[in-house]
Amino acid sequence: MPETARSRAASLAHLRRDGLAKGDPIPLPLTMAAIFHNPGDGAGYSQYGRYSNATWDAVEHMLAHLEDAPCVGFPSGMAAISAVFFGLLKTGDRVLLPSDGYHATRALAERFLKPFGIAYDLRPTSTFLDGGFDGYRLVYVETPSNPRLDICDITAVAEAAHRAGAMVVVDNTTMTPFGQRPLDLGADIVVAADTKAANGHSDVLFGHVASRNPDIIAAVTGWRETAGGIPGPFEAWLVHRGLETLDVRFDRMCTSAEVIAKRLKNHHAVSGLRYPGLEGDPSHNLARAQMERFGFLVSFELASEDKAEDFINNCTLMQAATSFGGVHTSAERRAKRGDAVPPGFVRLSVGCEPAEELWQAIEASLDKIGA
Ligand SMILES: *Cc1c(COP(=O)(O)O)cnc(C)c1O
Repeated sequence: MPETARSRAASLAHLRRDGLAKGDPIPLPLTMAAIFHNPGDGAGYSQYGRYSNATWDAVEHMLAHLEDAPCVGFPSGMAAISAVFFGLLKTGDRVLLPSDGYHATRALAERFLKPFGIAYDLRPTSTFLDGGFDGYRLVYVETPSNPRLDICDITAVAEAAHRAGAMVVVDNTTMTPFGQRPLDLGADIVVAADTKAANGHSDVLFGHVASRNPDIIAAVTGWRETAGGIPGPFEAWLVHRGLETLDVRFDRMCTSAEVIAKRLKNHHAVSGLRYPGLEGDPSHNLARAQMERFGFLVSFELASEDKAEDFINNCTLMQAATSFGGVHTSAERRAKRGDAVPPGFVRLSVGCEPAEELWQAIEASLDKIGA
């Protein structure tokens, strides 16, 4: 029987079952070790903490189960993205990035790829297919884009990019493997910041690279071993624990976001609301076709910077914070971070609070600021 999202979710908490000996702890032990007992021929055994760690293995096993592909863990989302760039690109290559994606990915290209002779171009997510992919070694997609939640057709990008000889990378941070499955849609590589919903408790940074191509896995593993950007075992242990509840949290967050986006859209103080799950949203038809869920991020505009700040700060069930995907509902006025959006533009990350109580708190804060 082929694995489904439901069967993957069901077996996720039991991945250690087959390896247990009588008396072993059922929860994952934390292995803190730089060195390992290793007399004689060490081949096939743990030798040194930059190469291997049992806690990484366990979290990578979980991620691989969810992605249905081998995964390599990194100390942050940016470390995972860096491993893809520095492990796979060389001087003379050209890269295509979304102009409306995560800002640090563009900064990485500008500050660190360019000086090595790797050029890059930017293109908006909503028109990502326009212009084709000739001349690119790597085409990088982030859909839904962050913070405006435009989307692009992953299958169509993968087909056109592969015809042009490019590799396709999808940053799947906002959706997680339960919300969108880029490798099944034809992407070569998934990168993700597990810092966000995958860990979900806003207490750790982590990232991973997933790919069904063994050469790609070997390249990013080689980069990690050699460049030395390795995850801390305790951080890996926390992510392992977070992943055990991802299905429940993500389900609650997406279900609540669907309810709250609809009500926000009808509130007189709100304009320009974007949520891929709403009928009539520019992203909706494509979202229905390629996403498993519509996600937990909602964006909208309030009339001014002050009103947006007051809305966020006065809402009793909302944290003013950058980042997203945690159990706590949080929001940020994105102009604060330099995104090209109006001053009253808010990105809302719906958390795990009960939806009706959360909506009441949101509505009360909106009513207070007036239109
Ligand atoms: C947060 C984020 C990253 C970077 O992850 P870090 O763990 O902060 O390094 C990359 N891509 C997206 C879409 C993100 O939201």
